[in-house]
Amino acid sequence: MDTQLLELLNSRIAGCTACRLHETRTLTVPGDGDPDAELMFIGEGPGANEDQQGRPFVGRAGQLLDELLAEIGLSRPEVFVTNVVKCRPPGNRDPQADEIGCCEVYLREQIEGIRPKLIVLLGRFATQYFLPDTKMGEARGQPYQAGPWLILPVYHPAAALRNSNLMNTMRQDFSVIPPLLANAERPQIAAPHTGHTHGGAPLSGSVLGESMSGETGQDDTSQQSLL
Ligand code: URA
Repeated sequence: MDTQLLELLNSRIAGCTACRLHETRTLTVPGDGDPDAELMFIGEGPGANEDQQGRPFVGRAGQLLDELLAEIGLSRPEVFVTNVVKCRPPGNRDPQADEIGCCEVYLREQIEGIRPKLIVLLGRFATQYFLPDTKMGEARGQPYQAGPWLILPVYHPAAALRNSNLMNTMRQDFSVIPPLLANAERPQIAAPHTGHTHGGAPLSGSVLGESMSGETGQDDTSQQSLL
């Protein structure tokens, strides 16, 4: 993504008063990383540390994200990290539907500008942005094609910090990222394809070189392969 365009987008976010979250924020947290990243992460929304620093995932969940990235040979500057909402929901409450709706324009511009090969969805809110009505437990660890975007839902790092039983699952889900990246192409189109209007189709095993059909209980006929 053109750096000037990204900076312009960041300053629009900094001045945004579209929803109530602007009243209680300290700093906006637009997202950061490589504007030409092949891999993008989308979380839920800034917490207290992020609100103070204006950067995503700088607290404990961010440390875990960095560790998981390091385990697959990647580091933060190589990826782009953002959130569904760019301002902290007070008291770390869940972002509300209208707040997500107000912020959607920014997320869409980031995705379409960066055109990542793979978008990893950290937790329920990012996942439901692409796959409404999807349960994390069913969708996680499985790649989907959502319009032009290859997406991979995984648990939110904060969930793994709360429940250490999820840690191995997260590691397993992150281990899927390198082979997916190796086989994926950057989407050529920047069609207006993000948002709540599209569902995703789980991909067949060919992307990962193993069969994943049936894991979500969805109809095999809806599966697509990138290859
Ligand atoms: N949790 C999120 O979802 N995003 C952040 O930026 C930090 C914690």
